[in-house]
Amino acid sequence: MSNSPEIGSRTRTRAIMERYGIRTKKSFGQNFLTDLNVLKNIVDAAAISKNDNVIEIGPGIGALTEQLAQAAGEVVALEIDQDLIPVLGEVLAPYDNVKVINQDVLQANLPELIKREFTDPTRPIKVVANLPYYITSPILMNLLASPVQWATICVMMQKEVAQRLTAKPGTKQYGSLTLAIEYQMQAKIAFEVSRRVFVPSPNVDSAIVVLSPREQALAVKPFDKNKLFGFIRGCFAHRRKSLWNNLQSVIGKDPAVKEKMQAILAELAISPQIRPEKLTLVQFISLANRLHQQDLL
Ligand code: SAM
Repeated sequence: MSNSPEIGSRTRTRAIMERYGIRTKKSFGQNFLTDLNVLKNIVDAAAISKNDNVIEIGPGIGALTEQLAQAAGEVVALEIDQDLIPVLGEVLAPYDNVKVINQDVLQANLPELIKREFTDPTRPIKVVANLPYYITSPILMNLLASPVQWATICVMMQKEVAQRLTAKPGTKQYGSLTLAIEYQMQAKIAFEVSRRVFVPSPNVDSAIVVLSPREQALAVKPFDKNKLFGFIRGCFAHRRKSLWNNLQSVIGKDPAVKEKMQAILAELAISPQIRPEKLTLVQFISLANRLHQQDLL
């Protein structure tokens, strides 16, 4: 086994798929990465060291898992597809610092899993994954909603989603997803990846995004995080319309309400005619807080 090429090489991936009769499942977003340089660059982008605990989401046939096992202290990999569990058991047998669990990440109790599965749960916890693209946003939202303090979340996703995560105000990619990430983390695109290095090849190109905890706390705190994001989503419901039109849909059109909203916008020096994508996170929070104080939200 130790003389075999690494799992992520095209030849070894083909051999494993043939030997175990693996047919990739579209329903689980299975596109296996077959480029050792890309795999090693992902591990570098996540800055994995032997002091780190790593959670991998969706190990597939173990290409990234193997690279992580070589770099990290311990790796816990969560795979939803039970057909891949015996395969992973065999191909990762040379690594005694890897545990594979048959688990849907969206159903996992992550704090409990971390306590149960890692020898030393106090070490930095990093998430590294080539995500199943059909559930990229729910997975990210789940990770951010969990009380775990992630040292880094380094994940591959569809390039267009990566651009939304890292978008600046005023661009067409900027929206509620950008703001939900910015609320907790700093996001940057580490590098892009061609669709050609996957088996099977998806219809889109990909990018690696690295999320790290915010270095500076937000200047203002929202009165209620969930209500803030409900409000933000409402404000982006009609992107081509002005903030004012969106606010009327979210808050109401009653003349007394409109008067209060106008006063709040004037006080915050926000033009009603601005498009929602021009507003920064701090402006959205200030606006939501003032609307709440006036019993409008
Ligand atoms: N890590 C492998 C690689 O890079 O070649 C496979 C990546 S593939 C894009 C996504 C993987 O996530 C598949 O193995 C798929 O079965 C798994 N997966 C899909 N939905 C999942 C879920 N809800 N929980 C855990 N794993 C999931």
